[in-house]
Amino acid sequence: MRLVTVGSVAFDAIETPFGKTDKIVGGAGTFISLSSSFFVKNQGIISVVGDDFPKQTLAEMQDRGIDLNGLQIKEGEKTFFWSGKYHNDMNSRDTLITELNVLEHFDPIVPEEYQGANYLMLGNLSPQVQRTVIERMRNRPKLIAMDTMNFWMDIAWDELMKTLSLVDVLIINDEEARQLTKEYALVRAAKKIKQMGPKYVIIKKGEHGALLFYDNDIFFAPALPLEEVFDPTGAGDTFAGGFMGYIASTDDCSFQNMKRAVVAGSALASFSVEKFGTERLNEITRNDFEKRMQEFVMLTDFEFNTLN
Ligand code: AMP
Repeated sequence: MRLVTVGSVAFDAIETPFGKTDKIVGGAGTFISLSSSFFVKNQGIISVVGDDFPKQTLAEMQDRGIDLNGLQIKEGEKTFFWSGKYHNDMNSRDTLITELNVLEHFDPIVPEEYQGANYLMLGNLSPQVQRTVIERMRNRPKLIAMDTMNFWMDIAWDELMKTLSLVDVLIINDEEARQLTKEYALVRAAKKIKQMGPKYVIIKKGEHGALLFYDNDIFFAPALPLEEVFDPTGAGDTFAGGFMGYIASTDDCSFQNMKRAVVAGSALASFSVEKFGTERLNEITRNDFEKRMQEFVMLTDFEFNTLN
């Protein structure tokens, strides 16, 4: 296995200024693994669902090359449920409901065939579960990336700090970076986060792109300006999956390659927001992706001649 993802596999109910969904398939682990499956075929997911989770979705994930031996199905229990409502600018949202259900007592299992994976993506889940997975991998992966959110900062701060100290890359949004560091300026926030453990910090700024910090270097990738953003749910996870999938498939952890990975993540996220849930991610082809990467190249291409 080249890449292992840990993260929620869930039901979401989403309300945006453009519409509302009943329970649809979501979850950080779902978005991440679907997104990284674009680049990596031999990957596995560690998660848990109840027996109410659609078997067809699981079959579709397997069709995309996602191994499900690490996904536990709990008979008689309910899948994690999250509900959120977006504000008019679509950049911010309120969580309406978080029902942990099967996640409450989740004990992650690392299947034998996942041992030795070089890349580990810890998607949004309790920091204790994220750490347990690190501890249960017999060899430390070459690169461990992690996502988290305000929910865990509020209820599991100490656990979060411990897990953070063990990872290489933290991928979070601007609001979360500010909450984590109590710093408003993101450059300062990134510096503080690096003192907490990760060498690399990626701060996502929604429709305003993403920043990658390493040492004293900063790289910025814009988000693609879109005419219509339908549902931003999972955009952050899609970004993380694209980033990690790209790194894992190229097996290159240099800063130069991370820059390309950030743009690859941004490109996949730009598709994800075009429809509700995972719908758009399931449709796009390699050709769509390549074209969008070229749009990113064009978007940031300019010349500058030194003033005389
Ligand atoms: P994003 O829009 O990238 O921040 O991710 C949204 C996804 O995160 C949704 O599909 C939710 O199911 C999932 N999610 C929301 N809250 C949590 C939580 N506390 N733990 C794990 N996953 C969550």
